[in-house]
Amino acid sequence: MGLFKAEGFVLRTRDLGEADKILTLFTRERGKVAAVAKGARRARSRLLATSQVFSHGRFLIYEGRSLHTVSQAELISSFRPLREDLSRMAYASYVAELIDAFVDENEPHVALFRTVLEAFTLMAGTSDLEMGVRWFELQLLDRLGYRPEFARCVACGREITSPRVLFHPAEGGVLCAACTERAAGGVEIPLGITRQCIRLLETPAARLGILRPSPSDRRIMESLLRAHIDHRLDRPIKSRDFLEAMRSLGPDEDRAEGEKAGNDAHAERAGKD
Ligand SMILES: [Zn+2]
Repeated sequence: MGLFKAEGFVLRTRDLGEADKILTLFTRERGKVAAVAKGARRARSRLLATSQVFSHGRFLIYEGRSLHTVSQAELISSFRPLREDLSRMAYASYVAELIDAFVDENEPHVALFRTVLEAFTLMAGTSDLEMGVRWFELQLLDRLGYRPEFARCVACGREITSPRVLFHPAEGGVLCAACTERAAGGVEIPLGITRQCIRLLETPAARLGILRPSPSDRRIMESLLRAHIDHRLDRPIKSRDFLEAMRSLGPDEDRAEGEKAGNDAHAERAGKD
């Protein structure tokens, strides 16, 4: 027990009592940490800005027997665009839920921490949120040791050259034609998709704009990464429903909803003054 310092992102918040919040943080030092931010829902709270979802801050945390408590917090970046715009919020919620689902408490992942900072920075500004999220999914899998194998058959190690290839989530990647019979299930994809996934894995976040997959290639990448992720999780990712509902609205409605979703940003501004 005692105090510890941690730099982290707010992955999610839950109201507690009259004015408190429980923050789930992803920290550089300790991985996932849950801590109570006392009085954080009061308009004049000094913890108001740092206890908004997606906020990036430095936290001083008091270790309690059952629950930790945020003693002090300093905002590094509010990532306000991720809360103000409904599309950005939907995609960022998905990213936060993935981290929450994959990372355990008190298990630091320093490389993943840097990736999250890159992903939030990217998603606060990009016009191609979808590719930003595909990029994050691949980096997350890579950092946690679940990188899908796209270049060589996972069974025999041979390089894949056939125009179509079987992607098999349970096997961890692609299978060549000769090995396909060994594994039931999986989904057949064009070889070009595997090459695009390798490029996406190797491209820095700041240069993602150079990748422009076709709409149908995007759908295939989305579904194969979804299958790969789902195979490694024991729970459903709820924010996908929000993402799909938001997508069905279309771009114009997105903007209108994004403007409506501005209230918590006003609250945050008030808190910072
Ligand atoms: Zn093979």
